[in-house]
Amino acid sequence: MAIMAKKDYYETLGVTKGATAEEIKKSFRNKARHLHPDNKDSGDEQAFKELAEAYEILSDANKRASYDRYGHEGVQGAARGFDNFDFSSVSGFGMDDIVDILDTFFGGGGGGARGQQRRGGPEQGAHLKYDLEIDFLEAVFGTDKTLTVRRLEDCEGCAGSGAAPGSNPVTCVTCAGMGQVQQVMNTFFGQALRVIACPACQGSGQKIDKPCKDCKGEALVRKQREFQLKVPAGIDVGTRLRLQTAGDKGRKGGPYGDLFIVVHIKEHETFIRDGETIHVRQPISYSMAALGGEILVPTVEGAKSLKVASGTQSGTTSQMKGMGVPRFTGQARKGETVRRGDQIVHLVVETPSRLSGEEKKLLEKLAELRGEKLTVSKSDIAKSEAEAKGETKAESKSESDSEKKSESVASEKEEAKGSTQNRKNRDKKEESSKEDASFLNKIVDAFRPKNGET
Ligand SMILES: [Zn+2]
Ligand SMILES: [Zn+2]
Repeated sequence: MAIMAKKDYYETLGVTKGATAEEIKKSFRNKARHLHPDNKDSGDEQAFKELAEAYEILSDANKRASYDRYGHEGVQGAARGFDNFDFSSVSGFGMDDIVDILDTFFGGGGGGARGQQRRGGPEQGAHLKYDLEIDFLEAVFGTDKTLTVRRLEDCEGCAGSGAAPGSNPVTCVTCAGMGQVQQVMNTFFGQALRVIACPACQGSGQKIDKPCKDCKGEALVRKQREFQLKVPAGIDVGTRLRLQTAGDKGRKGGPYGDLFIVVHIKEHETFIRDGETIHVRQPISYSMAALGGEILVPTVEGAKSLKVASGTQSGTTSQMKGMGVPRFTGQARKGETVRRGDQIVHLVVETPSRLSGEEKKLLEKLAELRGEKLTVSKSDIAKSEAEAKGETKAESKSESDSEKKSESVASEKEEAKGSTQNRKNRDKKEESSKEDASFLNKIVDAFRPKNGET
């Protein structure tokens, strides 16, 4: 086989020699998504495997140090290599999941026997994915769920051998029981010899003459199983839980794969969640806003009372401490006191749209008491038109000056005229629109994907 100079791992990952672990991880994730063989537009299996190998070395501090000192020589054999990586074992996953799973395999602790599997030997079963949708309140307080999974298990009829009862698998003639054959390949660099799994026995080294009727010689059959899952309190959208050995059984006596549970949370009609904070929109009446008092506000623990200050403006927020979502600890221990977020109540003053005769009279009386005019007279219009003309003149005069100066001229003029009322109104308007904007930001944040990657 033609030997090619190995590409520099840093170059493969597109990072500098001084890159942080975080930068390496980020770059790997971006490139892996791009190059993954499942990606129809830009997928490149060879490049992906090289990328995975580079990441495996550089994401491990020890291997990276060795590579930095001695180059590829220093990490020979340290990379498992991904020539044997079975992408079909992670089929059914989205691109992000696959990247996550690869990450799990690399992520310290010596995890992942997959790369070290001997050809034809036992294989770990496939990991399965389960989309679990839970209610808003279940996510807040945690819940127990029963998951029904259809997974591969050893066939009972043949005890997982694939051969009919009374018969035994025989040694494969094609590979003489080795499970591997050599194949001549014509490559760009000339002929090369490579070792592949025996196509006659799929690398098992054995052939089944009389296949088992139950599994048609597959040795594995799909069975429906139930698993209990504890969903921890405070879980958020997109969190992945993992049930070990709840996936498919591996071939040839290999271990079970795992079950990855992707949690989805239904929206609530009253509560909006932003991490550990819960937002609630609470309408209050004009009288309540003006006079102040006490109201009942929905919380995840039922309605609780909240004091409203007199003179409350629409858009004011009020905090209910400890009424938010418990901190996600990943554990569902009951009775444990964990820190909880807060609930933010957004008070919205509602103007009555229908008034009874008596109400109307009372409000008219109120307006009269406050000296409010409910209509506009012709003389009011004339007065404001005159004012507007005066201002236009002032503006056009100052247009030739610098912007800063024109501003100061305008404000000087305003002050001189003594029309501070206009300013007050404007300030108030700005204040309330600021509050609206911050609420909107929070709402937008609540719906923003949490991992910050997409
Ligand atoms: Zn069978
Ligand atoms: Zn064979």
